[in-house]
Amino acid sequence: MLYWRIFLLFILIFLSSFCSAQNNDFAKLRKEMVEKQIKARGIKNRRILKVMEKVERHKFLPPFLQRFAYEDRPLPIGHGQTISQPYIVALMTELLCPKPTDKILEIGTGSGYQAAILAELVDKVYTIEIIPELAKSAEKRLKILGYKNVFVRCGDGYFGWPEAAPFDGIIVTCSPEKIPQPLIEQLKEGGRMVIPVGEGWSQKLLVLHKKKGKIIKQYITDVLFVPMKH
Ligand code: SAH
Repeated sequence: MLYWRIFLLFILIFLSSFCSAQNNDFAKLRKEMVEKQIKARGIKNRRILKVMEKVERHKFLPPFLQRFAYEDRPLPIGHGQTISQPYIVALMTELLCPKPTDKILEIGTGSGYQAAILAELVDKVYTIEIIPELAKSAEKRLKILGYKNVFVRCGDGYFGWPEAAPFDGIIVTCSPEKIPQPLIEQLKEGGRMVIPVGEGWSQKLLVLHKKKGKIIKQYITDVLFVPMKH
């Protein structure tokens, strides 16, 4: 009996040191990701760089993909969907100009990673996911990770979240054919929306700025997102 206890204790010590070594590796990879993929491409906002280094992207992926978490690419999260490339997450977050007092709406929760990045930067995040399994798993994951300021809903993000509107900012992480009118209506005066628009391979990342009730559009770059489902 005593031998068994000692044996189990050794196993526990081995496993915990293995996990902490792995966490240290991930921390190093995150630092490199910020330097080589994000800062190097011109992202300057210090709060965003700090948060990209802090949030553990590997925890938003299935175990067999975790070792690729800090590579420069999107990755599958099941149901034919993807977690966006880290640089794109940083770019869209910077374009949103998030302030600590902001209430933000995200369309396309996916893994919950973008929502977690925003949750570190703003007051409240409302996020909508159309695939029930993804909505459920992201909600659970965000809860386990301790995010109390993220609210997840399963539904069609085209219609936004009228009960929680208006929003200081809206970020859309799937690509609709046209800018959804309900989202424009749910944006506060002075607010910003960051959204890919278009079908197939010809999607444009836009920033919309609501000024005196009018929408000013700015084209940023070409992107590739999963389509917004109806
Ligand atoms: N932001 C996510 C990645 C988004 S992938 C992350 O950080 O992991 C795009 C997501 O948008 C997918 O999960 C897809 O199911 C979802 N989606 C597609 N159409 C939608 C719609 N009409 N409403 C809400 N979510 C939608």
